[in-house]
Amino acid sequence: MTSPQPDTDLIGKIRDIAGSGGVLTEAADVAPFYRDHRELFVGAGLCVARPRTTEEVAAIVRLCAERRVPVVPQGGNTGLVGGSVPDDTGNAVVISLARMNRIRELDAVNATMTVEAGCILQDLQDAARDADRLFPLSLGAEGSCMIGGNLSTNAGGIGVLKYGNARDLVLGLEVVLADGRVWNGLNGLRKDNTGYDLKHLFIGAEGTLGIITAAVMKLYPRPAAQETVFMAVPRIEDVMGLLNDARAASGDCVTAFELLPRLGLDLVLKHFEGTRAPLETVTPWYVLMQWSAGAGAGDAEAALRRALESFLEGRFEAGVITDAALAASEAQVKELWKLREVLPESQTREGGSIKHDVSVPVSRVSEFINRGTALLESHMPGIRVFPFGHVGDGNIHFNVTQPVGMTKAEFHGHWEEINRLTHDLVMEMDGSFSAEHGIGRLKRGELARYGDPLDLELMRRIKSVLDPDGIMNPGKVL
Ligand code: FAD
Ligand code: ZN
Repeated sequence: MTSPQPDTDLIGKIRDIAGSGGVLTEAADVAPFYRDHRELFVGAGLCVARPRTTEEVAAIVRLCAERRVPVVPQGGNTGLVGGSVPDDTGNAVVISLARMNRIRELDAVNATMTVEAGCILQDLQDAARDADRLFPLSLGAEGSCMIGGNLSTNAGGIGVLKYGNARDLVLGLEVVLADGRVWNGLNGLRKDNTGYDLKHLFIGAEGTLGIITAAVMKLYPRPAAQETVFMAVPRIEDVMGLLNDARAASGDCVTAFELLPRLGLDLVLKHFEGTRAPLETVTPWYVLMQWSAGAGAGDAEAALRRALESFLEGRFEAGVITDAALAASEAQVKELWKLREVLPESQTREGGSIKHDVSVPVSRVSEFINRGTALLESHMPGIRVFPFGHVGDGNIHFNVTQPVGMTKAEFHGHWEEINRLTHDLVMEMDGSFSAEHGIGRLKRGELARYGDPLDLELMRRIKSVLDPDGIMNPGKVL
């Protein structure tokens, strides 16, 4: 394959805009920007531009638009569907937002912060905490993913149950359009019914309609008290009832509800030194649950703990849970969450894995897990089904690990058919084949296959209005 001639004129012009540190071209420097987190996709590009301001982003996009050069916006590059990297034609400019990482304003009374797209999620959580506020978006990649990427994927994570997806946390947005103009929707209004709510078009668009450069995000009061408990729940059929009972008993204070299968826990203990099982009880399912109390009238902590203990007693007597470990210190809270956080990685370390990020109506979670497990186990004896995740939102990471003894390559040879069986079942159950990770390149075929024709037509029309020349992250989503 011959590589295309680099457009040195364009690269030079981008350098004029973004400064000498604002363009990367050396192979070793650009390589990490051209491959996705899981290394499923490795592409090539003209260069990586690293603008520092909205004006610089706009000027670079204008240059690219004039020449019909594709642009690929990139945040922390932690996306799981290959959306943030260029294809292998080598003609795209990757625009990394990493240097746009200022918090422009934090308004504690309006309970908002105005942030640039390249702010790392964890830094935003910290800034909110420093102002005695809570920024509730939280996910495994929070140490490196960026808010522009979170918004472009409408990220979910562990706080959705109480606070919603990334989309629900936004009041305003600033976007560089495909022709290089800046759309300023950067307001902090909680009420604004002046026509179509355009910001929502760009949220979840995975960079195919414009580049998000800044956003006004909502803040919340910091909980006065928090309790974390790890429970053994033998029957999957009891799990969603347990959530509903917990919501009622806590006065709707459940802020996280994560399912872990025994197999997952075993793989974490096997592959991560220093981890330990929180409970001696061996059972097929565990739930990691967090309660957060809003108001802090005096002994909020003691009151929350009493309420949780009495809830657990009741569930224990009803036979729904058979064991529970309540975190007694911040260190123990971290230890419990670590088990959940490293779960996906433990699967990777175990060998070949095929992942599905699906959702079904909350009422059908256990039915889906039972039917999906039976389906795949009968299709491939020995396959290790590994469903986990944010089941409180009906979101199941329905992952499967290779049978013991099979090679990774042989297992991955069955990727398509295992996807098909799983996604067919999801669609039959009125679910979604991509609950929180988006479409990117990985699931484009699935969208074309399962998407409603009218949905797809409207999406294509919106795309052609906002990006008539198709330069914004081409080959992704549609
Ligand atoms: P990138 O990967 O850089 O980009 C993602 C997409 O957004 C690409 O299409 C890119 O072109 C586009 N994009 C990026 N920035 C912009 C911008 N400023 N303007 C326009 N388009 C842009 N996701 C969840 O939803 N929930 C989870 O619980 C979760 N857990 C994860 C755990 C781990 C360990 C890992 C590795 C990933 C996880 N993810 C999860 C997936 C990923 O972290 C999220 O999709 C995240 O929101 C991506 O942010 P990013 O900055 O890395 O975006
Ligand atoms: Zn997730």
